[in-house]
Amino acid sequence: MADHGPLFAAMLEEFDEAARKLNLERGIWEILTHPKRQIIVSCPVAMDNGAIQVFTGYRVQYNITLGPAKGGIRYHPNVSLDEVTALAAWMTWKCAVAHIPFGGAKGGVICDPSKMSRREIEALTRRYVAEIIEAIGPEKDVPAPDVNTNEQVMAWVMDTYSMHVGHTETAVVTGKPLEMGGSLGRREATGRGVMIVARESAQHVGFEIKDATVAIQGFGNVGSVSAKLLSEAGAKIVGVTDWKGGVYNARGLDIGKLLVYNAEEKTVEGFTGGEPMTNEQLFALDVDVLIPAALENQITIENASKIRAKVNVEGANGPTTPEANNLLHERGVFVVPDILANSAGVTASYFEWVQDRYGYFWTEKEVNERLEAKICEAFNAVTETSVGYSVDMRTAAYIVAINRVARVTKIRGMYA
Ligand code: NAD
Repeated sequence: MADHGPLFAAMLEEFDEAARKLNLERGIWEILTHPKRQIIVSCPVAMDNGAIQVFTGYRVQYNITLGPAKGGIRYHPNVSLDEVTALAAWMTWKCAVAHIPFGGAKGGVICDPSKMSRREIEALTRRYVAEIIEAIGPEKDVPAPDVNTNEQVMAWVMDTYSMHVGHTETAVVTGKPLEMGGSLGRREATGRGVMIVARESAQHVGFEIKDATVAIQGFGNVGSVSAKLLSEAGAKIVGVTDWKGGVYNARGLDIGKLLVYNAEEKTVEGFTGGEPMTNEQLFALDVDVLIPAALENQITIENASKIRAKVNVEGANGPTTPEANNLLHERGVFVVPDILANSAGVTASYFEWVQDRYGYFWTEKEVNERLEAKICEAFNAVTETSVGYSVDMRTAAYIVAINRVARVTKIRGMYA
């Protein structure tokens, strides 16, 4: 492989563990550990100061055995081919666990959008899409938002693609604004999925989510929606932290008021309905459920031994290091891996694509009901596999995913 860096190596470590348990045959193992296609493009953009700057962009389609490739587009100075390839592989396993007919992809452009004007970001987006246009499309590869890209960027992706093909093609991208083919319920979907997974995990482990205590790291899209829905389900959210600080209340935080405060202040720090709290204190809380919903590598070998939660639901991508995961498993903490715990986001994207292709849109209730059914199906498949193979939930999720892709690879056969 052209660029086999540390993130791809981390993905392979998780893959290999599950593939060994599955007794995966060597040839299929080889296929599933290589990206199908890696595209590197140069995107010249006329900047506001008159200078021309050339940005490097990537699109990796890791595997398309189950259907069109699916995955976000990231704008960040640290984007690399290694990162994009690993993330595309993880999307492959996430879509397979979620049991939706998509392969895995990811895109990224090396840039710092915080230092760019809206016009520059639009110009970069349109040029990047034009450079990868042969590779994307509703039946080929369907991008979505990721770090530093949003509904507006997706609208530009859709418009650029549509201008090239000569007709409006909403299904080329998901995460669009509602008025142009977006889906109701998508914005809240990942947090809703986290709530469902937390509820099902509690039942599996032997307690009820009603009256359970919960600590959440991160109060953005995923963390705040999980907090709201879990408190509506009767759970007590006792601690929340964000980039700036945190807040704790043993009797349970008033999530309605915290949402209003956070919307105004852009942080939970300083909320008067509780006492200040750090991430370190949050992780050590004596709670039933812990939800890391902020960044990667937050639960490490240093703090994993202090975690007292019975259940750890990974709302964020990659919040637990491999060593910490093993330690938590040994200590009997039920860890629900990211590729299952936050898969409701891509499942809702799948629903958006389906609705766009039908040209017929569902009510929010229909979206939520279908989401609930899909997440419960995925959760049950992984827990059954975990029991059947005597492995932790992360390895079990990989086993489910690899098995699904491997079986279709075998049935389809080799084209050569
Ligand atoms: P977001 O930007 O809306 O929110 C991130 C939150 O994390 C913010 O509250 C921020 O203050 C907090 N945070 C940042 N640094 C922190 C720190 N050092 N300590 C504590 N909190 C910190 O992002 P999001 O969309 O909620 O995504 C969160 C995670 O979930 C990411 O890992 C993302 O990849 C993953 N995820 C998101 C979705 C989705 O649909 N939004 C889907 C799948 C996975």
